[in-house]
Amino acid sequence: MDNCPLAVALGSNRPTRFGAPRSTLMAVRPLLERCFATWSGQELRCSWSLLHYTAPVGGPPDQPPYCNAVMLVKGIKAQPNEAHALELLDALQSLEHDFGRDRCAEQRWGPRPLDLDLLFWGELRLEHPRLVLPHPRMHLRSFVLEPLLQAMQAIHPPCW
Ligand code: ADP
Ligand code: MG
Repeated sequence: MDNCPLAVALGSNRPTRFGAPRSTLMAVRPLLERCFATWSGQELRCSWSLLHYTAPVGGPPDQPPYCNAVMLVKGIKAQPNEAHALELLDALQSLEHDFGRDRCAEQRWGPRPLDLDLLFWGELRLEHPRLVLPHPRMHLRSFVLEPLLQAMQAIHPPCW
């Protein structure tokens, strides 16, 4: 249903086995698209922002800059609900793990190889201990809002 778009924010400010943050986001892009298509069992329309280099907000000092992007997914037939959204969060956290993220070993808002946040899914509102939707800090973060706007306006896949 096109009236239930879903958005994911991507961020990276630590190298992974794929290289620097830019290479990490380039590597995760097709995996993320496949992850959503496999989960929903159908073809989906994904649009992307450009890559944005941004200064870290909050967290420990002297972190490297972030590379950020936003992916917008349209055409998901599954109903936006808590169970489905938690399945998607699990899939995103599993991808983060595949890219070397170890939540137990990292500082709160410290540098991370890959951060994948669900921004919204249609009008779904959740206050689950593991998942708040819409993302509660989305509207405060220009490193999310600017790429989100680009992904919403995207006509052609951006060349990264
Ligand atoms: P942040 O993304 O805020 O920098 P983390 O990536 O360390 O912080 O995530 C902390 C926790 O936030 C995760 O364990 C996850 O369960 C929770 N969380 C709550 N809402 C969301 C959301 N909309 N998207 C992703 N994670 C979320
Ligand atoms: Mg996160």
